[in-house]
Amino acid sequence: MSFPVFWISMMNDRRLNGLTLSEMRRALQAGEVSSVELVEAFRNAWEEDSSNEKPVNGYVEFFADAAQQARKADEARAAGGHGKLLGLPIAVKDNIQIAGRLTTCASNILQGYRAPYSATVIERLEAAGAVFLGRANMDEFAMGSSCEYSCYGAVRNPHDRDRTAGGSSGGSAALVAAKQAPFALGSDTGGSVRLPASFCGVYGLKPSYGTLSRYGLVAFGSSLDQIGFLARSVEDLQLVLSVAAAGVDPRDQTSEKTGFENAGPLRARSLSGLTIGIPGQLVSEAVDPQVLQVFDEFRRWLESAGAKTRVISIPVLDACVAMYYIIAPAEASSNLSRFDGVKYGRRAAGAENLDAMYEKTREEGFGPEVKRRILIGNYVLSSGYYDAYYKKAQGVRALLQQRMDAVFEEVDLLASPTSPTPPFRLGEKVDDPLAMYLTDICTTPANLTKSPALSLPGGRTSDGLPVGVQLTGRRFCEMTLLETAYSWEREHAG
Ligand code: GLN
Repeated sequence: MSFPVFWISMMNDRRLNGLTLSEMRRALQAGEVSSVELVEAFRNAWEEDSSNEKPVNGYVEFFADAAQQARKADEARAAGGHGKLLGLPIAVKDNIQIAGRLTTCASNILQGYRAPYSATVIERLEAAGAVFLGRANMDEFAMGSSCEYSCYGAVRNPHDRDRTAGGSSGGSAALVAAKQAPFALGSDTGGSVRLPASFCGVYGLKPSYGTLSRYGLVAFGSSLDQIGFLARSVEDLQLVLSVAAAGVDPRDQTSEKTGFENAGPLRARSLSGLTIGIPGQLVSEAVDPQVLQVFDEFRRWLESAGAKTRVISIPVLDACVAMYYIIAPAEASSNLSRFDGVKYGRRAAGAENLDAMYEKTREEGFGPEVKRRILIGNYVLSSGYYDAYYKKAQGVRALLQQRMDAVFEEVDLLASPTSPTPPFRLGEKVDDPLAMYLTDICTTPANLTKSPALSLPGGRTSDGLPVGVQLTGRRFCEMTLLETAYSWEREHAG
């Protein structure tokens, strides 16, 4: 394939794997590059990094047939095909099913399990021509905030290899940050797309509950789970959203019609007329000073771009981590009861009877954090404690929803840090579950209220560590989030 002169000079500046999805799309359409070349660039980046003394460890599998998928896409294009994502490479978190491929949720219990069908989101991406690069590392069953609870070993933060990438979609975020993938699917139950986006310095979108079908996403907390995206540009988030959110999925009763598939190209918007609320509890002295500083600069930018900002108080917000760590484990304990050695994946050998086989399989198959969640979940659902914990948490969740509805009568968006701290060191919180759980203070509210939320790379600490800023909107107001982030990106990217 011959390259026009401008393209070659551009490639000297930025290797192919440094392009965003949208840039690749334009280059593919102009015939300046092939999908096979793109896939090879990512394979090379991954292989090069794998020989590093401290590899990122973002892929648990790079698909051997990725180049073959790309070749098919190139052939389809040559034959006049024009799918919206034709030939564009995407990495997929290891809890989203792709028919015929392994799906293990980074757990020993699912070793050897192959997906019998594809998730609806995967089907839609595939129909639009996407090429899947591989499976991204994660915390086991998406439980964690640091990507250290994986049977494949921890993910390292590309910005500082001794620090965590955030979790649970840490593999997805680290691959995008390390330019080993231009875009990745993650999942977000309590912040798992936004927290790693913040730690790795990329964009992370958790759509509203109901925007994307959950069919084929391995269930964790069914009333909270949502597939989300990690990207290096806002335009990329919108591009994939327009494909993945294309209408109601009859196989997921909670999916809704959003119209996002018809959204036109993103426009930078004036922020005048927008009122942005800043929840006081999320910018308190409990937050790291360097994070507060980055957030403060972001707030000043919002105002310079025409928005009005004001600090507000949402009383129930203080209870979000507590609520989340009752509701999510309760739902998880029920969802994970299906992994019993009979239906999926691995079965322990040498058990004397059926009960012993269940026990041994689960004992050997699940890691410590997953076991902790199952125990907590069963405890809060047990007849003696149901009213005191689970029912109470559901009541407070309803109260939070009312309060948030009232807040969104007065403000258009909420802005806050994404994480109370910059990326922490590997090992720092892994033996202290409570400290790990408190990392989710800024992200759990959007899951509990089913709101869309986006983390954008707001700035850096004095050591050069990424710090994210989070925008949260009314349910199904994804476009306002994307346009605001896009305006910010246009002034700050590069
Ligand atoms: N850190 C949270 C947890 O451990 C969120 C996980 C997620 O969003 N999947 O449950």
